Amino acid sequence: MPPRSLPETAAGPEVVYDVPVQVADGVLRVTAHNPSAMTGPGTNTYVVGTSELAVIDPGPATEEHLGAIERAATEAGGAVRWVTVTHHHLDHAPGAKPLAERTGAELLAHRHPQGVEPDTEVGDGFVLRGPGFALRALHTPGHASDHLCWLLEGQSLLFSGDHVMQGSTVVIRPPDGNMAEYLAELRRLLYLQPPVAAVAPGHGRMIGRPAEVIEAIIAHRLEREAIVAEALMAAGEAGLDDLLGPVYGDVAPSLLPVARFSLWAHLQKLALEGRARVSDGTDPMATTEASRWAPAADH
Ligand SMILES: [Zn+2]
Repeated sequence: MPPRSLPETAAGPEVVYDVPVQVADGVLRVTAHNPSAMTGPGTNTYVVGTSELAVIDPGPATEEHLGAIERAATEAGGAVRWVTVTHHHLDHAPGAKPLAERTGAELLAHRHPQGVEPDTEVGDGFVLRGPGFALRALHTPGHASDHLCWLLEGQSLLFSGDHVMQGSTVVIRPPDGNMAEYLAELRRLLYLQPPVAAVAPGHGRMIGRPAEVIEAIIAHRLEREAIVAEALMAAGEAGLDDLLGPVYGDVAPSLLPVARFSLWAHLQKLALEGRARVSDGTDPMATTEASRWAPAADH
């Protein structure tokens, strides 16, 4: 049985490219024209505020998109004062520095070796306070080690980056990605008080009924994990390529190269939990794509 699919909870306006769309009070979305298997309809940039503005995830550094963000800022009624990214990936962060330079904004990010050099380093609990809004940072490693979600206080609107995407699961790619952390950080979202009211994801439309979606993502991952454990048991000793077919038989062949990374991440999590091991005794977190795996001795 393949894992259950995610519930359909897309909400709010349809995605349009490089035209500002209001998605919540004091929040505009500008979607970059970079659709792909990995980015869904494209990368969402959010403009928060009504006078001094914060921009979340400037996306690709194209004139087309950066110009659209600046027009959105004008429409919002103010100037860009802060620029931040949810994480360093190439569909989210390259526009950050150019946008900060064009607007004179302060650049805020969690530090990452492949990321932008921030003016202000952001960690868990950091609060960005603007006129009429406050954005609280949650460090949510898993999809990327530097991943931040931003919570718009008052509205309990979560800018989720790639921690939660609309319409698909996300790739967990070791060594920067970590499945155990990813699931722990998803669970944490369920315990936030007040509860998250809506999610503004890095890709796709707004997400209503967040708790239902987050619980379904966790269940989907655990179901996949059970299939991985079963396939490993059946194989006895196996590499990623031996397990890919049995584990991801329900996935389109074009997505298998990325599913392979999530498979690796699942094996690492199983090993951390004592349910699998690396055949040659290596630390599971120091494995490579070529490493071979086996069920834990006592399973
Ligand atoms: Zn990403």
